[in-house]
Amino acid sequence: MRILRTLAELDAERDRHGRSSGLGGVCVPTMGALHEGHATLIRLAASRGRCVVWVFVNPTQFNDSRDFERYPRSLDADAEVCRRAGCEVLFAPRPQDVYPSGVPIEVPALPSVATEPGLEDRHRPGHFAGVCQVVLRLFRLLVPDAAVFGEKDWQQVQVVRAMAAEHMPGVDILGVPTVRDADGVALSSRNALLSLRGRFAAVGLSRALEVAGREPAPEAAERSMADVLRSSGLGVEYAVVRDAETLGPPRGRTCRALVAAWSDGVRLIDNAPWPGGL
Ligand code: AMP
Repeated sequence: MRILRTLAELDAERDRHGRSSGLGGVCVPTMGALHEGHATLIRLAASRGRCVVWVFVNPTQFNDSRDFERYPRSLDADAEVCRRAGCEVLFAPRPQDVYPSGVPIEVPALPSVATEPGLEDRHRPGHFAGVCQVVLRLFRLLVPDAAVFGEKDWQQVQVVRAMAAEHMPGVDILGVPTVRDADGVALSSRNALLSLRGRFAAVGLSRALEVAGREPAPEAAERSMADVLRSSGLGVEYAVVRDAETLGPPRGRTCRALVAAWSDGVRLIDNAPWPGGL
């Protein structure tokens, strides 16, 4: 596995492969602090072609500067996870390579699924503008054949799929089901920030989705999710059933239950098919 830190190193790698642009292959965009969920994405990418992992804590997608500052960073351990999961190239650029001063970086127009649902878009203003900006920058640099994203961030997958269809239609967007701990909690880099009490309460998110999956109607499912989240000691941001693709009101097509809640000062999200649950 090769580790690249600069645009010059990326260019040299491109030349090594005899390409005129990017590296091709299958890329896995991450912010590092890699865990088994990321390793699953990397293994899928490696099974499809040359796997290129991107590690970059992107400042433009954080709506809270404290969240950005305390985001876990661990490049040496990340490299080990990448190596073991079959990654060929780890690209961990410096901020000046992603956002060179004086060079305007394209911010694509946001698709409606990034602005209308009232979910992550409402609770993390500016987040999807930052995600679309960095993902498009990454796609333009790496020119991958495909990119792998986790379904844990369900709205993000829909946003990236819509953005790619508009701006980089050659990139196939692949989704991977959420990887969970034995007790049902979705693996997340943010779990490292949880207190013991917060980690215990976090089980409430997956339990809420499980209970909702058995309810016969969206309204009942939403009430049950909010009840389970509250009784687990979590601060509810949203607990909804939506159309799985548009994230608008459920319309009898495939639906998804989505929750966001605070556990002892840490914001967590999760989702599952509805009906059905986890
Ligand atoms: P992050 O580094 O948190 O931005 O995540 C990088 C990618 O890994 C995103 O596509 C996430 O959706 C995905 N991911 C994070 N946690 C999980 C998980 N528990 N299961 C599957 N994918 C995940």
